Amino acid sequence: MTTALASPAATTPVSDTPIATETFKTLLIEQRDALLSVAESSEEAAKPVQLDQARVGRVSRMDAMQQQAMAQESDRRRTLELQRIRAALERIEAGDYGYCLSCDEPISPRRLHVDPAATQCIGCASRAER
Ligand SMILES: [Zn+2]
Repeated sequence: MTTALASPAATTPVSDTPIATETFKTLLIEQRDALLSVAESSEEAAKPVQLDQARVGRVSRMDAMQQQAMAQESDRRRTLELQRIRAALERIEAGDYGYCLSCDEPISPRRLHVDPAATQCIGCASRAER
């Protein structure tokens, strides 16, 4: 008599995620921490230009403003990158990490290794670039 056909494994929720999210979570956290430490060290450079005009010539003032603009630009990019990473970490927590936000297809792990914060599969990403 075989009555125990209903195996308990059948009722256990099986993860259908083929991606090692823990690996990508680690990668994302590393990237985030690296960006945050850069942000700390560059805060000084992004401060508003406050130069003693009596002491500093016009040219070096222009230089300082240019440097400030560059610092602000890299600051802006870093903020965007941090947002992408935070969003990716949230998707990991929510359990929908690794799926294309546009077509819902799985993003290839190879692509995620290059950019763990990727939000689109290669197909949608290359369509968006056009
Ligand atoms: Zn897609």
